[in-house]
Amino acid sequence: MKIGAPKEVYEGEARVALTPDSAQQLRKLGHECLIQAGAGERAGITDDAYREAGIEVVADAAALFDGADIVIKVREPQMDEVQRLREGQTLISFFWPAQNEELLNAAAARKATVIAMDMVPRISRAQKMDALSSMANIAGYRAVIEAGNNFGRFFTGQVTAAGKVPPARVLVVGAGVAGLAAIGTSTALGAITLAFDVRPEVAEQIESMGAEFVYLDFEEEAQDGASTGGYAAPSSPEFREKQLEKFRELAPDIDIVITTALIPGRPAPKLWTEDMVRMMKPGSVIVDLAAEKGGNCDLTVPNERIVSDNGVVVVGYTDFPSRMATQSSMLYATNIRHMLTDLTPEKDGVINHNMEDDVIRGATVTHAGEVTYPPPPPKVQ
Ligand code: NAD
Repeated sequence: MKIGAPKEVYEGEARVALTPDSAQQLRKLGHECLIQAGAGERAGITDDAYREAGIEVVADAAALFDGADIVIKVREPQMDEVQRLREGQTLISFFWPAQNEELLNAAAARKATVIAMDMVPRISRAQKMDALSSMANIAGYRAVIEAGNNFGRFFTGQVTAAGKVPPARVLVVGAGVAGLAAIGTSTALGAITLAFDVRPEVAEQIESMGAEFVYLDFEEEAQDGASTGGYAAPSSPEFREKQLEKFRELAPDIDIVITTALIPGRPAPKLWTEDMVRMMKPGSVIVDLAAEKGGNCDLTVPNERIVSDNGVVVVGYTDFPSRMATQSSMLYATNIRHMLTDLTPEKDGVINHNMEDDVIRGATVTHAGEVTYPPPPPKVQ
């Protein structure tokens, strides 16, 4: 099969779904690769680098979509990209089918198969193609770097001839994939790191990374993520009040807050309120990784960096993985390559779209002219 990656059209998107390395692996599966001219440029991969790896570079999107049997992308397609798909062609990219019904119906009407990378089931066997996790890991790391870039002091404490510098105090709210990456980066830079999550089972992970878990003095048993497939469920009003009370107690002494709290299918919970921002010292920084879902902080403006009246920087960028496009393209292209490995079981360049396979079935949102989203519930493993 011919596998082609177009240049991303979403404004500012710097990632690319194919790298010279991933193309080499795809060749071992019997596939050939195409890339649109300039597609890797913002990720630091030149057209010549692709050519040297034996990848055909085509002039524009039209040539790419015409020449490829399977189109691989990062961002969900725009409608004009869906309109380029033809019967029997496959698109693999992030797709967010719940939010993109029109695109979904249009792809099904064109009888194209769409594999949504955001729908890959989060089970151990599928970790190698879990692009949500690989991108969240980068976002968590980059959030700390971004915080450091906006913070006028060191993370680590120092005793120097010029004076004693206290370590920064960092609070990470939400310890899923992005939060744990942020905790790891923050402790590695030497900050005193505190972290909170509604799922008490993450306390051990937080502590094993050298951070301190913020316990709530709350009698009712905090929710157990095991009952919600590992994800958080909304907190009770009483739990939330206790949580906010704890955050208010911490706010005056925290220099950097990284918020990552999300609940699937809902707007981000508001956890860092305006009065907490006001309690923070001037020069403190909040990086809100939940900005795309409305933000965990009251003051967050998605895609913007603002400064509050009392001098606290609030960063609401929603493109952290794209800001590290070389790294994220490498990991994303590997996730895609693993998906194609499972789709090419005989390594003979022939796709076997096995709808009996839980992972392939879960991620397939249109197939053979039908919308196949949502998938049936996973079989008990
Ligand atoms: P997510 O992005 O949905 O949420 C981020 C974090 O916010 C979660 O840890 C959640 O508990 C937390 N949160 C929600 N409300 C909160 C609140 N009010 N206060 C504080 N924190 C709050 O999470 P994610 O990173 O996608 O991970 C979700 C789960 O899936 C985790 O248990 C993770 O380990 C698991 N996971 C499993 C696999 C796998 O098995 N293949 C892969 C990835 C993630």
